[in-house]
Amino acid sequence: MRYAILSDIHANLEALRAVLDDARDRVDAILCLGDVVGYGAEPEGCIELVAERCQAVVAGNHEHAAAGLMTLEWFNPYARAAAEWTRRRLDDDHRAWLAALPLLREFEEATLVHASPQQPDDWEYVISAEDGYRAFASFTTRLCFVGHSHLPGVWVQGSWGRSHAAGAVDVALEPGCRYLVNVGSVGQPRDRDPRAAWVLWDAEAKRVSVRRVPYDVMATRSRIVAAGLPTFLADRLGEGR
Ligand code: ZN
Repeated sequence: MRYAILSDIHANLEALRAVLDDARDRVDAILCLGDVVGYGAEPEGCIELVAERCQAVVAGNHEHAAAGLMTLEWFNPYARAAAEWTRRRLDDDHRAWLAALPLLREFEEATLVHASPQQPDDWEYVISAEDGYRAFASFTTRLCFVGHSHLPGVWVQGSWGRSHAAGAVDVALEPGCRYLVNVGSVGQPRDRDPRAAWVLWDAEAKRVSVRRVPYDVMATRSRIVAAGLPTFLADRLGEGR
């Protein structure tokens, strides 16, 4: 089986559609690591596409914020404004769908979780080498896929030791090794590459790689501005920051 793993779509429907197009002939199933909503102007369209196309979905902090399951006091002003806008905009059905998502799921050989698997609803980022090495004790599957930082990266643990690489991911899965992969962000990349990111996990070829897909950034930016969301949320998309 081949899987697409998507995270941090952030109500960016243009980016989500481009990624689904790119994945169509490459994968058998689609998995989603949360933050479907928040920041962008098209939460309903993204929720509906994810609900229809994804075989497994876990909740991100923006799901919990929009569903009213957490306080917004730890959010920065932009995230808070977007979360409040999203909460007002969604109807009860959409909010109920978000609220019902699990924090963590095991799927085949992989654990799916938005932030660190250590305590998923503490929403800890997995960015540094140490963040990732610490997380291996908190899942039992061979692979674990995370999002949340919007920065792709991979951590490997084997009998020979361990390694970490930030940025573009393209790894062959070796026998006896375990892997933690940050899949990056579909709808708001922050690694200075504005193209949408998603991960292709090919269980037969034993390979995990990040793919980058261009999408109509200008269309997404104008929808964010037209919705009255902070213009910073539109501007950052063009720079991937
Ligand atoms: Zn996010």
